[in-house]
Amino acid sequence: MTMSDTTITSVGRSHAADKFYRYKRPELTVKKEGRGNGTKTCLPNVDTVAKCIDRPVDVIMKFLSADLGVIGKGATLSGHHDKQALEDGLEKFIQAYVTCPSCGNPETRPCADKKRTKLLLECRACGSRSPANTRSAHYYDKTTKCMMKDLASASREKGGGDKKMNKKKGSSSSGGASTPQTKIISNAEGSEPWDRNEDDEDADKNSNAEYDNIVWYTDTSREAAMERREQSLGQQPALFRIVDTI
Ligand SMILES: [Zn+2]
Repeated sequence: MTMSDTTITSVGRSHAADKFYRYKRPELTVKKEGRGNGTKTCLPNVDTVAKCIDRPVDVIMKFLSADLGVIGKGATLSGHHDKQALEDGLEKFIQAYVTCPSCGNPETRPCADKKRTKLLLECRACGSRSPANTRSAHYYDKTTKCMMKDLASASREKGGGDKKMNKKKGSSSSGGASTPQTKIISNAEGSEPWDRNEDDEDADKNSNAEYDNIVWYTDTSREAAMERREQSLGQQPALFRIVDTI
């Protein structure tokens, strides 16, 4: 697959017409294979899409397969499915599990509430922690359960301690007014971060420590933002458009 085969779109359809929108992803590429009873549909670039929206491939595939009522394995779904149906499913996933319910920014991180019964999205742009915007349908229930399970095992692996320490360290750097939302964040001890790769760990710690003074990546260091995007996109460094650098 080359770049020219891939259409780039905004994360979230409400931004589809905004070509300067900062958050981009490739559209799903869809490969139908087999015939008769052995039909399947492969999504060869779902891992790139997953990196762009910062959610694990298996969670996205779980949602898509449950949404379509088919069996999913790896990046493959049973049966033949059109790109439109899969893009519709992905859009539902993004609205429920990626986009901040408060401000609409897609830079969020799943976490659990104190009782570890509810899935929340923690927004890096506005600082809010809001329940994931799910509907009552089995495919949402399944996906939410899967994400809660991942959060629980990530928290077990980390021993559940180190993050709380980081959250208590305030930042004395300039200007941020303390809002009720940031208070909620620093008090929310029951929450654990989504499992992330080690490169993201440092960024995490910083953002937790500096939540009183939320300044998004692109403002603090464009180079860092570019680098982060390029790392996360692997072979395809040009997918994101950092508007401020133009
Ligand atoms: Zn937000």
